[in-house]
Amino acid sequence: MPKAPVDDCLFCRIVQKSIPAEIVHETDSTLAFRDVHPKAPVHVLVIPKEHVESIMHLEKRHAALLGDLHETIQAVARSEKLVPGGFRIAVNVGREAGQTVPHLHYHVLGGRAFSWPPG
Ligand code: 5GP
Ligand code: ZN
Repeated sequence: MPKAPVDDCLFCRIVQKSIPAEIVHETDSTLAFRDVHPKAPVHVLVIPKEHVESIMHLEKRHAALLGDLHETIQAVARSEKLVPGGFRIAVNVGREAGQTVPHLHYHVLGGRAFSWPPG
């Protein structure tokens, strides 16, 4: 069973549309919206609608959801014209990596060149 929305979770509230966000793509199981503090010309967050705290909280039952998230990333990459040029996906997991919102999110960054390794 999917977990219920968490009342004090910022991204659950964006899913429920009780906090506004600039949504660029939506499916039954995923949502993509612009980051409020963009770090690149295109900076979209792709999230599961279900509250999953981080990659470390994924379970076997989320296998289809992971496919859905990657399909949404592809849709955003196409609609934001990030292909064939390329783009960066970043997922911060936990405090030391800089995860500030405890609801799984993929940063989709594009529209400029990126260095490697990331800081
Ligand atoms: P994290 O640091 O957890 O990997 O990423 C959280 C992201 O959420 C940050 O890039 C931050 O700018 C973004 N963010 C924080 N609050 C809001 C908000 O209210 N609306 C939107 N659209 N993005 C937010
Ligand atoms: Zn949440």
